[in-house]
This record gives sequence, structure tokens and C-alpha cells, in this order.
Amino acid sequence: MTVVGSSPAWPNPGGAQSGYLIEGPGRLLLDCGPGVLARLREQYAENGWPRVDAIVVSHFHLDHWGDLVPWVWGLMVGPAREQDPPELWVPPRGREELRALGTRLGMPDMFEQTFRVREYDERTPFAAAGLEVEAIRLPHYTLETYGFRVSNGARSLAYSGDSGPSDLLAELARGCDLFLCEATLERPELDGEPRGHLSVEEAVDAFRASGAERLVLTHRPHELPVESGLELAYDGLQIDLS
Ligand SMILES: [Zn+2]
Ligand SMILES: [Zn+2]
Repeated sequence: MTVVGSSPAWPNPGGAQSGYLIEGPGRLLLDCGPGVLARLREQYAENGWPRVDAIVVSHFHLDHWGDLVPWVWGLMVGPAREQDPPELWVPPRGREELRALGTRLGMPDMFEQTFRVREYDERTPFAAAGLEVEAIRLPHYTLETYGFRVSNGARSLAYSGDSGPSDLLAELARGCDLFLCEATLERPELDGEPRGHLSVEEAVDAFRASGAERLVLTHRPHELPVESGLELAYDGLQIDLS
């Protein structure tokens, strides 16, 4: 697993926003925020463009999907023209959402025309890039948002995406080898209502309740350091789960 981008809703200095690449039988990208595609082109390009088999999007906040737009242009008229397009897994009714976004950008079917778009269903495991992925809906203000549990049958990781405090986080990460959990907030009371993000303490509580093996905090503003003893994601961090 490589952290391609770990920034929160605004970019950390020199950073990319949400993107986590899992290399197993194939390449699976969890979220594709602004800055992620440039990093992938730098590090994983084959014939000028990164080969990724599937992209899974947690929700439609820009920091989690924004680089799908330049990816479309790469597939349509750029260096990705000759490649098999990645599967693009979106939340339930996500095709409609993509169409609405495409309409705003002047080309309603731009995503359907380029990616192989699929919608996942909540709590119905699906295969992507040779891995099993299960989406669990999590509370994130009023936006429909999912976290993912990814497994190759032997090893597993959980990714919170964006979430407020919930027992569902412990369920998502139950017994996983790695829990990538967001910790956006300095303090819980700085969040909106309904809640949408976690403080470090809340992320640690969810980790402890999950029984997961290892916690890596992410989606955290550079301005907010974490106490020593806790592991914080940074762009380029690689974790070997084999
Ligand atoms: Zn976010
Ligand atoms: Zn969000």
C-alpha cells in the first residue's frame, strides 16, 4: 500500500489529496483527489500514463475525486488513449452524480465515455483489481459516504474515507492488518453538526474498538501534529502487507 496523497480538504504544503494505491494481483486506487494523478504519472507511468486497474471513490467531496477530471482528458485525448481504461467504482447512484458533474463541465457522458463505470452496493463485496472490496456507509455531515475494507483473502486493510465518530468504524476495521483512519480535527467541538470528521482521540478509540493490528492516521492538516507514538501517513509512505 502506498500513500499517494494524504492531505485533508485543503492541501498540505507540496501535498496531494486523498489517494491510496494498493498493489496486489492488480492495482487498486482508493480515492483520487487533486494531486494524485500527477504523483502517479511520476511514479507509475508506463508509456506515459499510470496503469491502474480500478479506482474506488468513497464520496463526492472534491478532495476524494477531483483528479478523475484530468484522468478523463488523458483517456479521451491524451497519453492514456491507448490504454484499457480503469474500472471506476462509485457509490450507489454515483452514475447520476457523474452525469451531473459532467453536465456542469460541458460533457454529460465524459466519465461513462472513458472509464468503465460501476456502482457498488453497500455491504455487498465486489472484486476490483483482483481484490475483494466491501463498502460500509459512514456518517459524514449529510453526504452519502463510504469506508472500504479491502482483502486479498490473507491480508486486509480498512480505509475510513471521511467519517464522523461511529461504531461502524470499528466494524469496518474489525481484525484488519492495517486501519487507515482519518483524523482531521484538532478537537471534536470544532466539527459541524451532524459530525463529519474525527479527532485523533476519536480515531484511536475506533482503532482500539476494532482490534485492528496497526493504525495509520491520515487526512490530517499539516498544522496539527500528532503526539509521538502515533503513526501519521505522509505522501510516499509505503506499507508492505504481504
Ligand atoms: Zn476529505
Ligand atoms: Zn468529505
